[in-house]
Amino acid sequence: MLHDLRRSRTTEAAQLCHQRAGSRHGACQTLTVNVNWLAVFPFMRIALISEHASPLADVGGVDAGGQNVYVAQVARWLVREGHQVDVFTRRDGAGQGIVHLRPGLRVIHVPAGPASHVPKEQLLAHMPEFARQMLDFCSREDGYDVVHANFFMSGYVGLHVKQAFGWPLVTTFHALGLVRRQHHGRDDGFPEARIAIEQLLARRSDLVIAECPQDAADLMQLYGADVRRLAVVPCGFDPGEMAPVDRQQARTALRIARDAFVVLQLGRLVPRKGIDNVVRALGLLRRSHGVDGRLLVVGGEAEHPDESCTPEIGRLRRIAEEEGVAPHVHFTGRRGRADLRLYYGAADVFVTTPWYEPFGITPLEAMACGVPVVGSRVGGIKYSVRNGVTGFLVPPRDPRALARRLGYLHRHRAHADALGRAGLRRARAAFTWERVARQLAQAYLSVIPMVGAVRVSQVTVPAASLAS
Ligand code: UDP
Repeated sequence: MLHDLRRSRTTEAAQLCHQRAGSRHGACQTLTVNVNWLAVFPFMRIALISEHASPLADVGGVDAGGQNVYVAQVARWLVREGHQVDVFTRRDGAGQGIVHLRPGLRVIHVPAGPASHVPKEQLLAHMPEFARQMLDFCSREDGYDVVHANFFMSGYVGLHVKQAFGWPLVTTFHALGLVRRQHHGRDDGFPEARIAIEQLLARRSDLVIAECPQDAADLMQLYGADVRRLAVVPCGFDPGEMAPVDRQQARTALRIARDAFVVLQLGRLVPRKGIDNVVRALGLLRRSHGVDGRLLVVGGEAEHPDESCTPEIGRLRRIAEEEGVAPHVHFTGRRGRADLRLYYGAADVFVTTPWYEPFGITPLEAMACGVPVVGSRVGGIKYSVRNGVTGFLVPPRDPRALARRLGYLHRHRAHADALGRAGLRRARAAFTWERVARQLAQAYLSVIPMVGAVRVSQVTVPAASLAS
């Protein structure tokens, strides 16, 4: 990279962004930047790798969920902060190339394996090709200040990029193989090599981002991650997407009875999310607590609740039959981002009782819509949900405990509303994507080599003369 230190006014930050955006495809680039500038405006070029989870994908199916939302929102808010972001994701459809989403934000579809969906459990075999393609792409570009890998396979690619170019590597695992094994057994579908790659990443990443204190503890205890190279940065929500709506208006829009007690479950439909536990709790709520409860289940591979493409719906329907609540469990299929606040807003309570949860964005989204949450006391949920303050924590796989809490919320509507309001305050104070992106930017800066206030990658004059 060729950079030139000449300009001196800090007010020209925006101009700098435009200059860089305009020059990115040139053979080389002249960047004018003041030595003191970066302390005020630490502009970075960031490569986000997310091999299976594209920021452009429809979310709610087995292989598209929280990570897609995370990458899309982190990229977007980093760009709003003035940084430049390229997201590298596997090409999984025809005609995908480089998508310019907005100034400063590109999605680079990397050809590696077939241009069609491949289950993430089978993707590792295509990662050497992904790494080769990305190295080739990077060698023709301006370079990055930091590479942020998401999930272990992106981390595998990130290690190659780090080795080839020396750019610092930040890793968010999103899920850990050894934790998954504790719950799924050895037959978890991912290749054995996952664990070794994760161990290598825990050692070689310049920084590992844990999403919550439980994630940090797992990384240290199961992978020997070094606490000095670990930062906790949570997930978030977008206030433009998630905000309270009038419950009755939401119900009218969704054709839900005004007086029903509505329990909402929203997310990917996979067994580990414990939705069977919620269906069984609904049975108990109706039988033992005398509550006319309805369960709304949002998510799936398609916008229609089709068992042939979402087999989990079939399994849950059979459990609902067993429990005698089939008429009271309504599957909607997957829903787009713009519709979600209506579903959250229509609910009396949001429920999520997975076996384990690396973070769990949906409880935050419910809180951001002012809805009380009952969630399992696991992973990120026990961090985002304050027991007795913003909702309740219950043991996973315990329909009785869940039904008791639901019965309580039905009997104490005023308290339920107060829990929802407290959740809204907590979500807005601690968990916006804007805040998350700023925390990540700080984390990136901590691993970018600096000379004085200038990143080494931006210096064309000898480093020694700057330091003196
Ligand atoms: N989601 C969605 N449409 C759906 C179902 C889910 O947009 O039909 C989104 C949901 O709003 C959340 C994400 O998928 O943003 C799920 O993230 P979470 O962290 O809760 O679970 P993960 O997918 O990471 O297991």
